Amino acid sequence: MDRVWIFDTTLRDGEQSPGASMSVEQKYEIAVQLARLGVDVIEAGFPISSPHQFDGCRMIARGLKGVTIAVLSRALEKDIDSAAESLKGAERPRIHTFIATSPIHMEHKLRKSPDEIVEMAVKAVKYARNKTAEVEFSAEDGTRSEIPFLCRIVEKVIDAGARVINIPDTVGYAIPAEFATFLKNIVEGVPNMDKAILSVHCHNDLGLAVSNSLAAVLAGARQVEVTVNGIGERAGNASLEEFVMALNVRRDFLPFSTGIQTRQIYNSSRMLANTIGFAIPRNKPIVGENAFAHESGIHQDGVIKKRETYEIMTPESVGRDSSQLVLGRHSGLNGFKTRLSDLGLSIPESELRRAYDRFLVIADRKKEVFDDDLYVIVSDELGHETETFTLDYFNVLSGNTAVPTATVRLRSGDKLFEEAATGDGPVDAIFNAIDRAISMTTKLEEYVVQAVTPGKEALGEVSVSVLIEGRKLVGRGASTDILEASAKAYVNAINRFKAYQSTRKGNGNGNDAH
Ligand SMILES: [Zn+2]
Repeated sequence: MDRVWIFDTTLRDGEQSPGASMSVEQKYEIAVQLARLGVDVIEAGFPISSPHQFDGCRMIARGLKGVTIAVLSRALEKDIDSAAESLKGAERPRIHTFIATSPIHMEHKLRKSPDEIVEMAVKAVKYARNKTAEVEFSAEDGTRSEIPFLCRIVEKVIDAGARVINIPDTVGYAIPAEFATFLKNIVEGVPNMDKAILSVHCHNDLGLAVSNSLAAVLAGARQVEVTVNGIGERAGNASLEEFVMALNVRRDFLPFSTGIQTRQIYNSSRMLANTIGFAIPRNKPIVGENAFAHESGIHQDGVIKKRETYEIMTPESVGRDSSQLVLGRHSGLNGFKTRLSDLGLSIPESELRRAYDRFLVIADRKKEVFDDDLYVIVSDELGHETETFTLDYFNVLSGNTAVPTATVRLRSGDKLFEEAATGDGPVDAIFNAIDRAISMTTKLEEYVVQAVTPGKEALGEVSVSVLIEGRKLVGRGASTDILEASAKAYVNAINRFKAYQSTRKGNGNGNDAH
């Protein structure tokens, strides 16, 4: 079977999704999980765009072995210098450089002639090849580019030493059959195409990212760029789990293999969702809560008689056999640790104790702790060293005849911030009190409560979307008490804003990635 390389860009394109920014430590934890999942390439970030991006790339490049680490750069020497610098110490480094090739981008965005674009691309690839053996070139807005021009630039950059040629559907404009023909024309129109791997990078604006990626593989692409849960710019990228499972389930029609350990899919999906605070829609293929639930009586009857009547793949094949009762308040630190590692959850030794203490509190309140609770506990404990504020205390007075009033106290180092405020409801009162305590002006855009596991004592997960100084931040918090979870989520969003302020004093470079 032909091998398809899985290039994961969760940490680069995915992290560009509004509200999905992660701390350097969080990015590293996700990268460790991606390596466990078996992706071939991890795109770690866009080093020149900010010191925060640079640090994330450097930490991943140095720490992860056995997987290729790619970083993004525009076709500019200063970008490539920064990319090469961030990749120092990587076992398998790759510089991924790009330039736009569509008439609309060349004319209006770059204001350069096609000849100048070819010259810049060739120069950049040569320059990058002097720094790393492996160079990938992307023709940004590829699907809206003219085929003769694409063939010309691709041939030249392969001659200059590019090993991977990526054709992004940057704006999610392609249609599967058309995209396949488009790619075949490139393969046929580039005489030295056999010297490089053809790659695609599809966006999901029309919901076709996975379909287009599959069509591309049938047309000769052997690297596909994807993200976990399909996160990414706007409507996102092709989802890793959907693409990989389509290849797995339909091997008869798609005779291609990947290096993905499919049993790690569910872990990876949950871990990412908890880290960035994006809830997975219930009906999301493969990883959504309902993806394997059979509701209709006829379906249930069929599945009981023979599973394959309504199931094209098993939940176990994607690692979903784990939602059973596992731990209780009598479970020791060792049992807790073992279960975490069974689930593929890694947590630094320094934070393990705190996560365990948190587990005990929850086990005490709700008696049965499910695997899904553990994902929440772990992601809640990660990256706390970068937090500005922690919730020290809160108290709410509420009722159907009283004006809801909240008092909160936040801590930052050894400083305390305490205030009281009223609101339309208890949650609103808490948020107002937090705003007042730390003198911030925020606008709440979205508030979502979700039970992590069934039952009256369930752990509740609150996700908030807050607008601060024109920037949208997502925060999340979990607790068996919804008000506490709400306060934590709100403080989490504010901390993300503070982290953004302190680490992203970037130079405004490179905000136009594909
Ligand atoms: Zn993209």
